[in-house]
This record gives sequence, C-alpha cells and structure tokens, in this order.
Amino acid sequence: MIVTTRFAPSPTGILHVGNVRTALHNWLWARKHGGRFLLRIDDTDLERSKEEYVEGIRADLAWLGLDIDGEERQSARFALYEAEFEKLKAAGRVYACYETPEELDIRRKVLLSRGLPPVYERKSEGAPVPEGIAPHWRFRLDHDAPIEWADMVRGPQHFEPKTMSDPVVRRADGSWLYLLPSVIDDIAMGISHVVRGEDHVSNTAAQIQMFEALGAAPPAFAHEALLVGTEGKLSKRLGSLGMANLRDAGIEPIALVALLARLGTSDPVEPVTSPEPLVESIDFARFGRAPARFDEAELALLGQKILHHTDHGAVADRLPAAITAARWNAIRPNLMTVAEAAGWVPVFDGPFAPPPAGDGDGPVLAAAAAAAPGIDWEADPWHSLTAAVKEATGAKGRALFLPLRRALTGRDHGPDMAELLPLIAKDEAVVRLSAA
Ligand code: GLU
Repeated sequence: MIVTTRFAPSPTGILHVGNVRTALHNWLWARKHGGRFLLRIDDTDLERSKEEYVEGIRADLAWLGLDIDGEERQSARFALYEAEFEKLKAAGRVYACYETPEELDIRRKVLLSRGLPPVYERKSEGAPVPEGIAPHWRFRLDHDAPIEWADMVRGPQHFEPKTMSDPVVRRADGSWLYLLPSVIDDIAMGISHVVRGEDHVSNTAAQIQMFEALGAAPPAFAHEALLVGTEGKLSKRLGSLGMANLRDAGIEPIALVALLARLGTSDPVEPVTSPEPLVESIDFARFGRAPARFDEAELALLGQKILHHTDHGAVADRLPAAITAARWNAIRPNLMTVAEAAGWVPVFDGPFAPPPAGDGDGPVLAAAAAAAPGIDWEADPWHSLTAAVKEATGAKGRALFLPLRRALTGRDHGPDMAELLPLIAKDEAVVRLSAA
C-alpha cells in the first residue's frame, strides 16, 4: 500500500490556521511514509467557490513548504459521481425523498417533544410518490451492523446506525452534498489515511458504510481535536487569521509549521529550522483528545528562537547584500524578524548619526578615540579597545561598555560587541569614536 493522504479544502474562503494544521498533518504523514500528498479542491458548491481562493490555497501551501503530489478538483468529476450514484441507486442504497424542509422540521420537533431522538424516519416501500416534485436523495444506512473503526487519534469508535438519520447526499436540483463525492474520490484516488478535524466524526460513521456500499475498504481515519484560541474571544481571530496576516507580521513559515506540528500532542514544540524532525516524529497516537490551544505570542517567540539558529544561506535572498554571513551570525540573536536585519546595515556601514554622549562619558570616549587608531582590527579589537580605555581611565563594567557601545552602534542594546566590532570597518569606528 502506498500511503496517500489528501487535504480537501472548500475554496470558499482563505485558509486559516486550523485548516493549515490539518493540511500539515496530512503532509507530514505522507512524507514520513514516502507516500503521496494530494490537494483536492472541494468545489462542488459552484456558487460559493471562487478561483481566487483556489489560487490562495495553492500559494499558502507553497509558502509553508507543503509540496503536493497532485491536485484534483471535484467540479471536474461530476460524471464519476453520477455513475457511482446510479450504482448505489440500482442497489437500493440511495433513495428518493420528497419531504419539504418545513415537514422535516415539524417531524423533528414532534420527536423531540416526545423525548425521542430526532432521527429521520424512512417512508415505507409503498408510500405514495407525490407528483411534480423533484426528489432529493438519501443514503440508506444498513441498520443491522454497528459501525466501528479504530481511530488513530481517538481510539475505538462505535456507532449504532439505527440512531443515525440516513444522510442526504444529493439535493433536488442535482447538486452534491459533501459526503458521497468525498468517498467516491477517496476510493478513486487511493486515499489510505483520512486526517481531519473531529467535527467530521459522525460523517465518518456514515461514510464508512458508503465505502462498503461502493465495494471498497474504508481508509484509516485520524480525527484530531480542534484548535482553539488562548481566550474565548480569540477564536474569532483564529478563524480569520490567514497566512497573509502572519507573513505581514514577519512570521516565518517554518515557525508556524514547527508549532502546528506539535501543538496538542505529547511531543514538545521545538525550534526546528527544517521540517525533517517533524516528519520523522509525527505519530497520531501522541495526539491529545483535548482542544489544542493556539497562541500567537507563542508563535512569535518560537519564530524568534528559530531565527536565532537559522543559517545565513536560508535567508540570504531576503537580506541586503551588506548583511554577510558573519554579520548575520552576529545580529541574529537580536532579531525578531528577518526584515529587521536591514535596520542593522547603517550600524555596520553608516550613514551613522552619533547619539548624544551621556554625562560623564567624555573621558572614556576620548581615551577610546585616542587608542583606536593603534589597535589591530584583525585580532580582537573590542578587547584591545576596552583594555586600553580601562587602563587610561579606570572605568569598568557598564560605565566602560555602554558609552562605547552607544558611540559605535548608536544603540543601547545589541549583539556581543566582541563579535560586532570586527564587522565594522576600522576607519568607520575611529570616525565614530572621534565624533562622540
Ligand atoms: N471539504 C471538507 C471540509 O473542508 C473536507 C473534509 C474531509 O477532509 O473529508 O470540511
């Protein structure tokens, strides 16, 4: 068996963090097993589906590094659905229904008022067929056998089909609901594992019988707990938090991948710089049943940690040429985003506006300006400079280091000066110290 997974979004909106998490888990699982990861565009709803969303989905997956091994579109597959539907009809597994929504609603309320579960009641075989009404279609659940599967996240699952309504699979206008086309595609595309949110668990129960009715063994299922925000009110933000928002905030895709791969699992979130360790370690048995909490602040922090050991080569195409590998290594512990690196170019190469000297910094700066021209910049200029100034003025600690850092970088905080100073040209440093 070739492990084949699919990500099956409806192109009726942008991908948000929750969808991306599902896509990622499908991708990780396929990559772990050397299998295939398909993108299936669930665009049976022709009115609400938009091409711009399809393009957005592709772009987001590419940005995240979730490469696909094929793309399918449900709107191109109606002929197949029609043929499979006819087979089920001939076998008596789908049947025509004529109730109006109002009738169904009344019936539901009557059942509930009697304390009964609001399960759809099939009409008897010989019930009269109303004239001039186009039917909608339901799938006939087999009531005789319990539905069971071993869910990779939730463990053994058990449903009594008698307690379930026969699901509607096709509307009176001929359009498809999600359930049946999805099963037909999962069979046709050889899907071995269906990974999706736990909001689909009861769909799975019905779909397992559809697989069987179509003569196929059902795939394995993993239903993951849903993603929630840190606060109740953040869930709304979570639902609208798209990849463009994150990209604009300077979040690196690997940070989101690293967080979403492990959130809600018993494995720790780690600041990885490539997805390989996540591919190796994905294991649905380690996914929890409780909702996973997504925290944007945690994402930003993780992103920062990842940046701090990201190699120059991985970001060079987004850095100014002046940020060489050595300069990148020096400044990366102080960056929140890659874009911030550009702000350090003037620190290295100017133009440089000297900050006003603090009270009492005069002697330290004067001693530094006097010592700097004689220092060997190839060796360890920061230690030579501070040693010379200390000897000349007796200054030490903060009173020694801060005025020099300020005069040389224009900032109060920043990378280790021993690493930074050799990366500023000696002439430039001498000018800065003399000007201070
Ligand atoms: N289009 C469905 C959804 O977005 C797909 C569910 C599935 O993975 O089967 O909910």
